[in-house]
Amino acid sequence: MSTKTKILELKNINKRFGTVQALKDVNFELTKGEIHGLLGENGAGKSTLMNILYGLYNKDQGQIILREKVIEINSPLDSIKNGIAMIHQSATLVSEFTAVENLVLGMQRSKLNLNFKEEKKEILKLQEEFGLKFPLDIKVKNLSAGLKKKIEIVRAIYRNSSILILDEPTTALIEEEFKQLLSSLKKMVSDGLTIIFITHKIKEVLQACDRATVLTDGIIQGTLNTKNANKEDLVNLMFKDQKIDINASAIPLIELPKTNKTKEPVLSIEELTTKSNKKDKINLVDLNMEIYGGEIFGIAGISGNGQKELAEVIIKPDNIVKGKIKLKDKVLNGLSTVEIFDLRVFYIPEDRKRESILGQGDIKDNILLGHQRESRFQKSNILRWDKVKEAAKETIDHYQVKTPDENKEIEKLSGGNIQRVVIGRALLNDLDLLVTHSPTAGLDISSVKFIFEKIIELRSKKTAILYLNEDLDELIEISDRIGVIYEGRLVEIYTREQFNKHKIGSKMIGG
Ligand code: ADP
Ligand code: MG
Repeated sequence: MSTKTKILELKNINKRFGTVQALKDVNFELTKGEIHGLLGENGAGKSTLMNILYGLYNKDQGQIILREKVIEINSPLDSIKNGIAMIHQSATLVSEFTAVENLVLGMQRSKLNLNFKEEKKEILKLQEEFGLKFPLDIKVKNLSAGLKKKIEIVRAIYRNSSILILDEPTTALIEEEFKQLLSSLKKMVSDGLTIIFITHKIKEVLQACDRATVLTDGIIQGTLNTKNANKEDLVNLMFKDQKIDINASAIPLIELPKTNKTKEPVLSIEELTTKSNKKDKINLVDLNMEIYGGEIFGIAGISGNGQKELAEVIIKPDNIVKGKIKLKDKVLNGLSTVEIFDLRVFYIPEDRKRESILGQGDIKDNILLGHQRESRFQKSNILRWDKVKEAAKETIDHYQVKTPDENKEIEKLSGGNIQRVVIGRALLNDLDLLVTHSPTAGLDISSVKFIFEKIIELRSKKTAILYLNEDLDELIEISDRIGVIYEGRLVEIYTREQFNKHKIGSKMIGG
């Protein structure tokens, strides 16, 4: 970074999706040879901004200036021609092809010689130079996420890119792979590449980047030099706006009625400590909590502080190193998800499209997911599609799903309607415990209200509800109690009378 040449400038970029203003007057500058972090919470607009630079989305307004020249980018082909490469969160390799085939095919320089002898030599050289080892001749589908990431990076260098965008590259990498990736990236920038590193984790910015730009709700909050910045500076930028309106009250959609909760807890977690070797996983530490039947227990926290891990360890308790999870009197440690679901537990994961549904399946298939072993849906191991169809029809009816019929592919429905199916499936049987993570994220008001009503209905039936959500306003509205999770620890629990947005908000950032 001795020469501080401005290589790229994004000017006044605006982008709207329907009613969502995803980017507002965004200005962004990139210096040649730096690793520049693009930091922001989920939904901040990071991927949208970079998808515009990469030509996947059209901007509504603004300019892209590359090496002091205004350029037009209308498709990834345009950006690739301009030396810009992007590596998405999930691999975009052809899984039936080998690494070499993936690197070489689609490039004009390949002749019709499928030995790829020359190409292989060149790839081996790049692997050596940057420490990015992967097998050349094995089909990509048989390789780990970490190896795929390496192939994509080498593909970018192989295509002579000068700017490399990495969208949340550490998701699904283990610690060791992250370290390797970091050292490869450093070698690549010292060789002249410029990197944009998208992440929602402050720690990664401090470890990996020279500078970082913070994006919140589509607005640039500022750019910091990480050499002179610490964690607090970044937190302050990331949550600047939230501090301003931390006491503002949102208009409540519902009233939480009074109920009696059960005498004994339904879920008890005692001194729970977990251990995972995945780089993007937080370990839970000495976590204690109880949820009673008829209680909505909200978990507040900035995303990535252990929410997902808490939800997952309850339905798949296989990485506990200390402590216990109990459902009533039964210890869940070591049980399989199937066994736990049989104990009247259900889970609604955070990522609707990727974890909740079988996108290509129709509504029937999706209603069946997680219920397929139940006797009402099968007889001597044969699925009873008539019963599944019936349940799907009832769900559509009861949850007011807008669809022509139960045979519609679920991914063709709107988010709100998909979530109605997901909730309907979760509530198909009476439950002792529902674990749900951001069930209303990105939905229209009427769907949000509908989901709130269903959850409150469940609460009145004495189900214990663990409600994880990054939106504090929503938690304050719907929770009986709120626990704050920070770096894998439950740092405080508040009862409804004690709810105070400012207090809870400052706990969320480690205060
Ligand atoms: P980030 O990458 O920071 O998590 P995104 O750029 O993916 O955030 O999303 C920013 C906002 O734009 C979100 O509100 C998201 O729902 C919305 N959004 C992103 N892509 C689309 C799309 N293709 N259609 C509609 N809305 C979108
Ligand atoms: Mg993103």
